[in-house]
Amino acid sequence: MNYYSLHHKAPKVSFQDAVVKGIAPDKGLYFPEKINPLPKEFFDNIENFSKNEIAFELISQFVGDEIPENVIKEIIADTLSFDFPLIEIEKDILSLELFNGPTMAFKDVGARFMARCLSYFNKNNNNEITVLVATSGDTGGAVASGFLGVKGVNVLILYPSGKVSNVQEKQLTTLGKNIKALEVKGTFDDCQHMVKNAFLDKDITDKIQLTSANSINVARWLPQMFYFAFAYQQLKHKNKAMIFSIPSGNFGNICAGMMAKQLGLPINHFIAATNINRVVPNYLKSGKYIPLKSKQTISNAMDVGDPSNFIRILEIYKNDLITLKKNA
Ligand SMILES: *Cc1c(COP(=O)(O)O)cnc(C)c1O
Repeated sequence: MNYYSLHHKAPKVSFQDAVVKGIAPDKGLYFPEKINPLPKEFFDNIENFSKNEIAFELISQFVGDEIPENVIKEIIADTLSFDFPLIEIEKDILSLELFNGPTMAFKDVGARFMARCLSYFNKNNNNEITVLVATSGDTGGAVASGFLGVKGVNVLILYPSGKVSNVQEKQLTTLGKNIKALEVKGTFDDCQHMVKNAFLDKDITDKIQLTSANSINVARWLPQMFYFAFAYQQLKHKNKAMIFSIPSGNFGNICAGMMAKQLGLPINHFIAATNINRVVPNYLKSGKYIPLKSKQTISNAMDVGDPSNFIRILEIYKNDLITLKKNA
């Protein structure tokens, strides 16, 4: 599968290049050239598939033949070695638990999948890749755990001093091996700024192959489609319409749900749940997208003032606000 830049000023690339580069040279996010819906029979018979088989059906077209089928199946099995239970809260309201991975962040799935893809792509050479990531807490832990011990990959995590929890700080700083964490005197925005500057700094990028492990990276973002299909598998027998409410920050997870819908998963509606950082709800109301400086809250993973994946949502809905509003 080829990927194009959403800034449309960079050449198309393979899945491998999209994963290794993270972001296009024109700073656009990569987006798959084609989205082929899966056969209706797959969704009609989803209860007969294992979770690894479901994941394979959803992801294989986006990888194409760049990773052999048996390897991608191993990567999936390794990635999904924990459960995704759907728990009834009250009648017709359920919670899909995504915190059963090693770091308790839903980002474990994407981080583990991406790490294993990079490891495969790096198997024949000694071209070291450095994964540079800024974190407000959850991402760094999931990336550190997912990439620990992966050959040829170094991880450098920037985190704001005093602004991640104690557990998160331990997750970032105690693993050793190929994981390094730097405590930054400043905010998450400062960390993200440093990361963005590093990507723009030719002196650095000439010497080091940098990539990102935020949901910007297609290998971190796309595996999140699995969750929505796992929910459907557990819900289908109820024969009811599915509406997902998704706590959103960078809008990677909800955007993965929208991709799953493009593949044919019967999702009726998405609710983008945000905290006071309301750039997207404001857009849905006014039709104007106005990025704001993020405001700090207790739900720090959702404190984003200019969600990176919003541009992918516009691409999925072809910039059509009316269709987007009908869906979200
Ligand atoms: C990452 C994260 C979010 C935001 O997810 P996005 O995909 O960036 O929208 C929300 N809540 C928690 C707990 C998170 O870890």
